[in-house]
Amino acid sequence: MTRIFSGVKPTGHLTLGNYLGAMRRWVESDQHRADGLFCVVDLHALTVAHDPARVRRLSRQTATLLLAAGLAPELCTVFVQSHVDEHTRLSYLLECTASDGELRRMIQYKEKSALALRSGESVRLSLLTYPVLMAADILVYGTDEVPVGDDQAQHVELTRDLAVRFNQRYGHTFTVPKAVHPGVAARVMDLQDPTSKMGKSHDSGAGIVYLLDDPDQVRRKVMRAVTDSGTEVVHDRETSPGVANLLEILSACSGGNPEELAGVYESYGALKRDTADAVVELLRPVRERHAELAADPGYVDEVLRKGAERAGELARPRVDAAYAAVGL
Ligand code: ADP
Repeated sequence: MTRIFSGVKPTGHLTLGNYLGAMRRWVESDQHRADGLFCVVDLHALTVAHDPARVRRLSRQTATLLLAAGLAPELCTVFVQSHVDEHTRLSYLLECTASDGELRRMIQYKEKSALALRSGESVRLSLLTYPVLMAADILVYGTDEVPVGDDQAQHVELTRDLAVRFNQRYGHTFTVPKAVHPGVAARVMDLQDPTSKMGKSHDSGAGIVYLLDDPDQVRRKVMRAVTDSGTEVVHDRETSPGVANLLEILSACSGGNPEELAGVYESYGALKRDTADAVVELLRPVRERHAELAADPGYVDEVLRKGAERAGELARPRVDAAYAAVGL
């Protein structure tokens, strides 16, 4: 059976971008057709300045939201990265496989290290080595497919290079995985700045719809979305990024393709109202289920405990084999 691994960082509250770009596919397709491992990658939240209590709170909320969105423990494995030691054990061996140069070339490293320096912080070494830990997250399970947004393509490419190099040096140990990018909603954009992606780690919440926003908050954010100077509803990411983003969100929520939907609307107001309604309806069951699960922390703990147990069992033999292969 195809094995799938994917993760979410607990660096902020989950957004509509995470849901449409990643989680929905895990829920509706991946967990049914494959052996899916879905992980809250908490170690990755430590690569930039962090508040321990916040990371702990967000890890739990993220795991609860994955279940609320519909990941079912009887179909897939949901767990927290730091509960399974094999990720960091393997990461060290992969650090001995990767080169300094190839990590410094990573676009996200360049962007995030520049950001840290600008705000007067030192750059944590883990920000540089983060893609190696991500490679370990993936390779440790013999993963075949990694469903991720376009922003992660370079990291999955590195993972493949490391797997091939390790296998060539020490004998076949790792499956070489491939990235699978979602066709629809591959990039949901910020409602206030439709040229940058709707990201949970961004500071301003005004252009970001969070999965736990109540219907009034969702409506307010969508109605205030930046549109373009024209008045005509067209789907064109270059000239009308704000309107194109709304059309794509509406299309992802309620079906229909963005070009056809553009023909249906004569004003931005009507498009915004329908988009807001569609997002509210999409998120309603997730919010309701989250409230039920949050009231039952024992259940979530048990799911995560069992998830980590299964993940550890899957990972251990491969990591042991890798240690033996390198001569330890
Ligand atoms: P973030 O960028 O929100 O910190 P993560 O790195 O935790 O997200 O990514 C979780 C998943 O959500 C990844 O597969 C990522 O590609 C996807 N994702 C994140 N933001 C968006 C977005 N705005 N549009 C589409 N997919 C997204």
